[in-house]
Amino acid sequence: MLEKEYFPQQIEKERLEIWEKTNPHKTYDNNDKPKYYALSMFPYPSGKLHMGHVRNYTITDVIARFKKAQGFNVLHPMGWDSFGLPAENAAIQHGANPAKWTDENIAYMKMQLKKLGLSVDWDREVTTCKEDYYKWTQWLFIQLFRKGLAYKKQAAVNWCEHCATVLANEQVIDGKCWRCDHEVTKKNLWQWFLKIKD
Ligand SMILES: [Zn+2]
Repeated sequence: MLEKEYFPQQIEKERLEIWEKTNPHKTYDNNDKPKYYALSMFPYPSGKLHMGHVRNYTITDVIARFKKAQGFNVLHPMGWDSFGLPAENAAIQHGANPAKWTDENIAYMKMQLKKLGLSVDWDREVTTCKEDYYKWTQWLFIQLFRKGLAYKKQAAVNWCEHCATVLANEQVIDGKCWRCDHEVTKKNLWQWFLKIKD
């Protein structure tokens, strides 16, 4: 008999254990169905998921499931955008190893994403700070550099002295750093540019 109430603590725990064993969202290459690639932007492993992550990955999950129901061979992978200053700053702040901090955050957030029940093929997981991934970023950069499409020049950037980092325009709120609220200044720095119009 069906229970009147839904008990997520019990039902979802059982379901997760089954999914761990059966791997129902694995994507196979040798499949005659038309292909569909459902990719969300990878989360930065900052520590814990927030509701913005839940919204973001639920949207892609709905699309992936819809396309699967329509008969597509759907590839819905997940990865970690794991290079960056937050890891360096956290390491300085806590006197910790940035690799350890990053790996621990990935493990925690992966567990959280799994609890959401997303139809992700975890066998395709990538981590951008690992060599098996960044060797391709480096390869791509070398191709651009050899063709003269990657070049260096000085340019003024938004700079937060407290975070010792460059900020994107979106990260400057009312002239202040979005992370630490310190005053943002302009600083001339040597930077890499890509001639995307060529
Ligand atoms: Zn700052």
